[in-house]
Amino acid sequence: MPASPDLQHWYGHDVAPGQSVNTELVVTESYSSRDVVIPIQVRRGAKPGPTMFVSAALHGDELNGTGAIRSMLADPDWTLTAGTLLMIPVMNVLGFERHSRYLPDRRDLNRCFPGTAGGSMASRLAKVIFDSLLQRCDYGVDLHTAAVRRTNFPNVRADLNHPDCLRMAEAFGAGIILHGKGPKGSLRREATKAGCPTIIIEGGEVWKVESSVADCMTRGVYNVLKELDMMDGEPDIPDTQATIRETKWVRAERGGFIAMHVAPGDSIVKGQAIATNSNLLAEDQNRLEAPFSGIIIGMTTLPAVQPGEPVVHIGRLSSPKSARRHTKQVAGDEIQRTAHEHLATNIQVVEASEPEDES
Ligand SMILES: [Zn+2]
Repeated sequence: MPASPDLQHWYGHDVAPGQSVNTELVVTESYSSRDVVIPIQVRRGAKPGPTMFVSAALHGDELNGTGAIRSMLADPDWTLTAGTLLMIPVMNVLGFERHSRYLPDRRDLNRCFPGTAGGSMASRLAKVIFDSLLQRCDYGVDLHTAAVRRTNFPNVRADLNHPDCLRMAEAFGAGIILHGKGPKGSLRREATKAGCPTIIIEGGEVWKVESSVADCMTRGVYNVLKELDMMDGEPDIPDTQATIRETKWVRAERGGFIAMHVAPGDSIVKGQAIATNSNLLAEDQNRLEAPFSGIIIGMTTLPAVQPGEPVVHIGRLSSPKSARRHTKQVAGDEIQRTAHEHLATNIQVVEASEPEDES
């Protein structure tokens, strides 16, 4: 009997409209000569439509997205109505096995795309993922966290000059959108360049599933699916979202301990006290101030610093007025409000003392 023209073939499995199939993409071989595979659920809607992937743990220690995708996999209360969705809870399986951002050859997989067939181990791995997965998709959402010893307030990063990336970034509804193409060799930059517009989300820290961050991620993925008419319903998006085109890391001026005066997701105005840096006996204080009005996108979770080490990552807003508007926006959106409250408990935030009288 001839195969049904409606069947799609994914990694050795036929997938019919309306069907979900758990499959695996073989990406390399292990030291013990076993296949190394990426587990993937391929889910198809009853109606035709685009193909999208949602992936996590491309850095093997960044697990908030893994938690978000796993909750989507376990949730019976949503239906993919059209198109094909590839759900990939862990992309960098070799890093994940070692609780590591990196591959066993110490390379960063997210700097190796599109990869080469005759290249390094990382480059070959990237090439298989690029050819067998990314090239077959029309859209992509890639979920990340901050790097080790840092945390991020959930934010979308996308090339806003690309109409499809802009559309997905706005539909995701994280509340904060950072413009940029991403580093050379990163999955999102190279996938977008190859015709699969891809956005990333950065939220929370490594080695955890933080429920408030995972909730923001799942809402965002459902929102994008709705925007692309792959799921019924209207995206649930905050009334206004901040678009950031410039960011800056405020760095420690002195070695010692940092007392934070702001939390992830806070809006700040120019000159506001961000942190006080002092020696272990709380002497010799040096206050770090906001260089411009903006949003605390990320910060260190490790309070011990040396001069030049990053303390907070600020996304620039045009004015104190837009900072105040953003504070209101976060308070009015339950998902962001919860993430804001929750992430503030991960670090000690203390009030800044009054500046010394200079007269
Ligand atoms: Zn990452």
